[in-house]
Amino acid sequence: MESESCCLEPIWPPDDLLMKYQYISDFFIALAYFSIPLELIYFVKKSAVFPYKWVLVQFGAFIVLCGMTHLINLWTFNVHTRTVAIVMTTAKLLTALVSCATALTLVHVIPDLLSVKTRELFLKNKAAELDREMGLIRTQEETGRHVRMLTHEIRSTLNRHTILKTTLVELGRTLGLEECALWMPTRSGLELQLSYTLRHQNPVGFTVPIQSPAINQVFSTNRAVKISPNSPVARLRPTSGKYMPGEVVAVRVPLLHLNNFQIYDWPELTTKRYALMVLMLPSDSARQWHVHELELVEVVADQVAVALSHAAILEESTRARDLLMEQNVALDLARREAETAVRARNDFLAVMNHEMRTPMHAIIALSSLLQETDLTPEQRLMVETILKSSNLLATLINDVLDLSKLEDGSLELDIATFNLHALFKEVLNLIRPVASVKRLYITLSLAPDLPENAVGDEKRLMQVILNIVGNAVKFTKEGSISISAIIAKPDSLRDPRSPDFFPITGDSSFYMRVQVKDTGIGISQQDIPKLFTKFTESQSPASKNPSSNGLGLAICKRFVNLMEGNIWIESEGVGKGSTAIFYVKLGFPTRLNESRLPHMRLPPKLGQTSFPGLKVLVIDDNGVSRTATKGLLVHLGCDVTTVTSGEECLQVITKDHKVIFMDVSLPGSHSYNIARIVHEKFTKRHEKPLIVALTGNTDKASKESLLRVGMDGVILKPISMEKMRVALSELIQHKKVLLEA
Ligand code: ADP
Repeated sequence: MESESCCLEPIWPPDDLLMKYQYISDFFIALAYFSIPLELIYFVKKSAVFPYKWVLVQFGAFIVLCGMTHLINLWTFNVHTRTVAIVMTTAKLLTALVSCATALTLVHVIPDLLSVKTRELFLKNKAAELDREMGLIRTQEETGRHVRMLTHEIRSTLNRHTILKTTLVELGRTLGLEECALWMPTRSGLELQLSYTLRHQNPVGFTVPIQSPAINQVFSTNRAVKISPNSPVARLRPTSGKYMPGEVVAVRVPLLHLNNFQIYDWPELTTKRYALMVLMLPSDSARQWHVHELELVEVVADQVAVALSHAAILEESTRARDLLMEQNVALDLARREAETAVRARNDFLAVMNHEMRTPMHAIIALSSLLQETDLTPEQRLMVETILKSSNLLATLINDVLDLSKLEDGSLELDIATFNLHALFKEVLNLIRPVASVKRLYITLSLAPDLPENAVGDEKRLMQVILNIVGNAVKFTKEGSISISAIIAKPDSLRDPRSPDFFPITGDSSFYMRVQVKDTGIGISQQDIPKLFTKFTESQSPASKNPSSNGLGLAICKRFVNLMEGNIWIESEGVGKGSTAIFYVKLGFPTRLNESRLPHMRLPPKLGQTSFPGLKVLVIDDNGVSRTATKGLLVHLGCDVTTVTSGEECLQVITKDHKVIFMDVSLPGSHSYNIARIVHEKFTKRHEKPLIVALTGNTDKASKESLLRVGMDGVILKPISMEKMRVALSELIQHKKVLLEA
């Protein structure tokens, strides 16, 4: 760079041309030198971080000085002044100084610069690595997307055929497969059967033994495993020499706990079993399985397993639902049949009730008529026996009917306000004659707080008390019978023998506790539980009684239950007497109920004993029954006309007929219409005859419907002379009351 001539060479005069060239060269060199610092300044300005600025300043100074020397040189070619020489010398000295300093600095800076290089290399490597990782993440994301799509397709149905078919189709499409197949274990579990494929239409029939090294290898891991294209499970296409088979992988599909669901056409699985999924890349292609593809296959296999188990649950629950529906249909059928049977039985009972009561009516009416005639003592005894037996039979008919109604739940209580104290006294009046014959001492104790009037079913309550007191009299030879009734304290109601009995009392109701204690034959401990079961007589020979039918207590229990109560019998043992106890729920009378009270019980036996000239019309299609009713009425002094039908009645009836006795065979018969027409025919109040239904149906509903259509009274058949007398007397009195009102 220096163009100074050396002092060792011979003095050589300056050649003009050479000088000229040197002159020009020095100028351009100086120019170039000066431009470099400008470029460096620009570079430093532009680069954000540059740690070696002062080195650059040094270097820049060095360059500028070099340039200066070259520039000053222009003035040294010819004769020059001492000032120029001094400037030149100074410039050279400075250049030497700065260049040496720069050289020394570079010695320090170079290793630094070198380490920057190393870092740059390291960063480059890192960036490449990051690039690779990004690629991987992208691949994984793609795999994930595929899996999600696949899973969505697979899970969008819960039909296992669709699940498996969709899996194969979706996998085939996503991975560009030539073939994809699913081998399911057979029922025996010894073979795998080709069940689904992508390309074969009807693959069923191919089987391979499950115990083969290739299959064992696949089943032993949950990873997808590459298998030989020649493996029996992979041989799905016609083998031809010209094809170079593609790579094949297989993966197990766990059949999750299907044995728990017992799906009928699924293999019965006692241990964990797998299906086998085989996937083939296209033949004659250089494609190989990528790791992310294998991962996708594994994830899909797991998803298929889950979807299959869901499908199995659904299949099972669908089947259970179908089964339940079938059962429901059968149950419904059974229920309807049972209802038909109950209806048929009720119809039969209604018919039988009526059919039995008609001859009973004839027997009782005629016997009671016979009783009124002159008879020898022997004949009288016979007639009395006939009457007693007939009454017993009539009671039995009532019991059987009540029981059957209790059993099918059709019996309803007839709730009204009644005199509770009077009820007990009536029971006492009824039972006392029998007790006095047996010389039994009977006591009745009613608690002072026991209300005079109560709301409940008087008739059924009386039936229960009569039955129990009757039993006490029946099974006691000597001693006494005590009857007591109190209001039960709430805490005394719970009985350990009846855990199902939950007494609930309110302000408007109370529980009455009735106890009937006797000194009779007693009951053995083993017989006590059987007492309330119908038709089971006590094993105790002592209690064997010809009038026992084992129905009484069974009916009592049902009545008491209907009255939300509880009944049981205690006894210390045979010969030690018995105590029957029962609770029933009764209501306190309200003003509303109280107002109905006078109608409930008409004063018994207060009226007339004969009705001379009373014009009465009897409608009955049954000849025997008609004659019996007529006989009773004639004996009571009535002027009786008999007709066989309603139509006939409408023809013969006049305003002189005061009472019509109408046999109402079965509810819903046209006698309802007759009553209405008769009422319409006689518009004047005093001309209207009283219409009385003679019926075998005692239940509240039929009685109410008879009264609703305009009947003035209902009498239950059979009818004795006494019953007829009382009924007629009550009717006449009732009419009087009505007319006076
Ligand atoms: P029935 O009295 O018509 O046989 P019940 O159902 O009223 O039917 O009574 C069933 C049985 O309970 C009776 O046969 C009798 O063995 C027994 N029994 C009932 N009350 C008493 C009693 N007070 N003393 C002894 N045994 C009784």
